[in-house]
Amino acid sequence: MVLQGGCLCGAVRYRLRHPRAAYWCHCTICRRASGSAALPWVTVAREDFEVVQGVMATYASSPGVSRGFCGTCGSPILFDMAREDAVDVTLGTLDDPDQLTPTHHIWTSTALAMADGLGPGLPRHAAEAE
Ligand SMILES: [Zn+2]
Ligand SMILES: [Zn+2]
Repeated sequence: MVLQGGCLCGAVRYRLRHPRAAYWCHCTICRRASGSAALPWVTVAREDFEVVQGVMATYASSPGVSRGFCGTCGSPILFDMAREDAVDVTLGTLDDPDQLTPTHHIWTSTALAMADGLGPGLPRHAAEAE
């Protein structure tokens, strides 16, 4: 499975393959980074994510963690933790997000009440999923 996506203004385009997982993150950092009540992500091996147009700007949101976004329009795109072999891509920047369905929630210990209706019935993890 090959999926394509990009930012709001179109300056950054990417391609990913072999999605491993999709999930909702309710952490406070994703909330700030996206301006949304919760943020859906798709996980892929680092080598299965490729920027095919433009250059992502990056921000170190925690030690060893880089968040990639479009430096022109600001769309958040990538979460890259140096010690992991996988990266996470914002589901909402895919050209067809409904091709993937989140299967669980993480960091529900900081979930907002307004996000209750998202992904009803899915497993909820207070912090990271195991
Ligand atoms: Zn952009
Ligand atoms: Zn998060």
